[in-house]
Amino acid sequence: MQNKPLAVYVHFPYCKSRCPYCDFFRALKPKNDDETILLDRYKQDIRYFADLLGERLVTSIFFGGGTPSLLSADAVRQILDEISRAFVVSADAEISLEANPNTFDRDKFVSFHDAGINRLSLGVQALNSDDLKFLGRTHSLDDALTAMELVVNTFEKSSVDLIYARPNQNFYSWQNEIDTALSFGLKHISLYQLTIEEGTVFYKKNVAPLDEENAANLYEQTVSYLRSRGFSRYEVSNFAASPADESRHNLVYWQGGDYIGIGQGAHGRFLHDGKIFASVDGKIAETLPPLERAEELLIMGLRIKSGINFERFFQASGIHFFDFVNNLAIKKLAKLNLLCYDDANVWLTDKGFLLLDKVILELVS
Ligand code: SF4
Repeated sequence: MQNKPLAVYVHFPYCKSRCPYCDFFRALKPKNDDETILLDRYKQDIRYFADLLGERLVTSIFFGGGTPSLLSADAVRQILDEISRAFVVSADAEISLEANPNTFDRDKFVSFHDAGINRLSLGVQALNSDDLKFLGRTHSLDDALTAMELVVNTFEKSSVDLIYARPNQNFYSWQNEIDTALSFGLKHISLYQLTIEEGTVFYKKNVAPLDEENAANLYEQTVSYLRSRGFSRYEVSNFAASPADESRHNLVYWQGGDYIGIGQGAHGRFLHDGKIFASVDGKIAETLPPLERAEELLIMGLRIKSGINFERFFQASGIHFFDFVNNLAIKKLAKLNLLCYDDANVWLTDKGFLLLDKVILELVS
């Protein structure tokens, strides 16, 4: 279909240093690397998808990683230009870039905005010096504060990532960090629970985060506190001051829309010629069986406050929602006040959000 919406994910695989909790880390940015090689690769991938998909309306573009703020502003501009040549980019497209305060340079960040970035997501992770050190972040508290101020005042939309459930963390110190972040006038905040994944430095060092019960309590207190500050939890880890402040790009993933991933390590999912495709590394990797896509849509869709829209679920997977889930379980979960549904949507209650994994297991049992 012509001008069907499409989201574009641009993956930048390198970082300046490795964070000890990170299982996304792939490689340090090579010294004296030649950005033109990377740029050629991005441009090839964009043209590959344009040839494959034809005319599509790009509604969001997201530079993620890794640390894409290590790209030059000129490279960002060239990638955006190539996407504009290949597709129709909507006049109000959300164009995001993830940045780390350890790459902060005032002029460069302003140049990102001039190149077309209108949403900047800053990976602050902690707002006290001890925990920044514990998390292996190579920026200081001052770096984070300086970057936040510029970001909020420069970009149309901005967000900050913070990590909670650090060892011995309590709500009062955490609340101070949230207050500090919000004092800059942010309208969006992402809060990720510290988990220890195999292969990470923390795993090898046997670092223990806050235990499950205290982490769940901290999360519940945080949701209530942010609500009292006017922020709605529109996704398990994401909070926004209004629907307009939500991440439109990430909503495409959670709602089962089409997206392509360009660059090494980038993934995509899209419908084309009546089939569901998965792409990896900027190329089609396989066609997905409808059941597999339906499972993804269930897992992703229940993470958001608005839940799963049955029509969208069918369009993305070719399967009717009630043919996929256990219908007795859905009624039981509704009686337990864990989820609600009507003719068009199913969504979790506050109580259901706390038991998200169990609800999903019940639905596919
Ligand atoms: S900057 Fe981000 S992607 Fe890179 S190592 Fe740290 S957490 Fe991982």
